[in-house]
Amino acid sequence: MGIEAALPVDTFLTTQLQRVINWARRSSLWPMPFATACCGIELMATACSRYDVARFGAEAVRFSPRQSDMLIVAGRISIKTMPVLQRIYLQMSEPKWVISMGACASTGGVFDTYAVVQGCDQFIPVDVYVPGCPPRPEQLIEGIMAIQRIVDSDGIPPRVQGGKRVGLNLAVAPNYQPRPQPVPMTLGV
Ligand code: SF4
Repeated sequence: MGIEAALPVDTFLTTQLQRVINWARRSSLWPMPFATACCGIELMATACSRYDVARFGAEAVRFSPRQSDMLIVAGRISIKTMPVLQRIYLQMSEPKWVISMGACASTGGVFDTYAVVQGCDQFIPVDVYVPGCPPRPEQLIEGIMAIQRIVDSDGIPPRVQGGKRVGLNLAVAPNYQPRPQPVPMTLGV
């Protein structure tokens, strides 16, 4: 029932090694979830049967950084937590990509306080920003597909002089239109 059943016997295929490597790499992204708040619930929903991120080969969620190559930051990051996130990022294997999921991870969201980091990209390089509060699972999947397109096009993240990694800074456009209010809202005077 595999692909070999559809192909003639003793056939062969020519391609470039780099294309095969990119295909294998983008089809087996292993996420490292760093979920600190409500966005984490949507992240969990993305892995459940309704959205089934396994369709994109990204369901092998690892809690071990050395086995992961896609960091998903979901939720607000406090100043105290940031060193932990940085250490996890540094321990992940290369090449690696970072998704900043939701308003809090990308900007601090509504938590404009001294204790909350106002955007994790101040401390780690972010490749894809997924907007929303929270983003829906479809939107996170858009972000994962954006990473896949980067990998497919041989887009290993660039580095500046000194080996410092630079984020790709891609923003996923919102793909969800809220339905209109069923009842018009008034100020109730
Ligand atoms: S962006 Fe919204 S849903 Fe996500 S962690 Fe912040 S408050 Fe929660």
